Amino acid sequence: MRYLILSDIHANLVALQAVLADAPGFDEIWCLGDLVGYGPNPNECIERIQEFPHVSLAGNHDWAALGRLDIRNFNTDARAATVWTRSELTPGSREYLSELPTHLERDGFCMAHASPREPVWEYILDANVAYANFAHFPNRICLVGHTHIPLIFELNDRRQRCEAMIPPLNGAVKLGTRRMIINPGSVGQPRDGDPWASYALLDTEEMTWEFCRIAYPLEITQERMRARDLPRRLIDRLEIGR
Ligand code: ZN
Repeated sequence: MRYLILSDIHANLVALQAVLADAPGFDEIWCLGDLVGYGPNPNECIERIQEFPHVSLAGNHDWAALGRLDIRNFNTDARAATVWTRSELTPGSREYLSELPTHLERDGFCMAHASPREPVWEYILDANVAYANFAHFPNRICLVGHTHIPLIFELNDRRQRCEAMIPPLNGAVKLGTRRMIINPGSVGQPRDGDPWASYALLDTEEMTWEFCRIAYPLEITQERMRARDLPRRLIDRLEIGR
């Protein structure tokens, strides 16, 4: 099976459309959470994803938009965007988001938005945090999002440590035999210094993973955010990818 792996779309419909147009044939979408929050098109993103065979997870921004999560810990801009998103969601969108699980197992892979240990909250930004998480899922490989940074963490059992790899773009990586935690990066708000939309393709017959980037007209997303009076910093960060 070929899976299109998406995460952190964040209501950026223009980026999502570019990814869907760019991705070669796939059987199913795995969406690792944060469909909404930050961006200008929450309902449209939820509707678009439902046009495909897919599975989808709850992220912290999805829960925040439902009022399931205390947003006092969010920074001012994230809070403002959440309040706007709450006012915008249709009953259908709320229902869709409210039924999302926090973690899933599919085709032998484990998935969580943030981490297997704390599926909605924890940021796996370094090898030590990744290492601690391997005890919290039974599968060989777990897919996560949340940090908006594409990375592979590979467990080296013999040396009892974990190694972070920034993999080559647009070339398939063999998934080998080691245990891994893999993040496809963010479709709608990349934070690794590259503003292009990030996604991945997983082929479970070949056992390969391919990181992909695609340019999209981010000025259209920015214009829509201005029209909705969303915070300036959230608009600006799209063009620097941070
Ligand atoms: Zn996110």
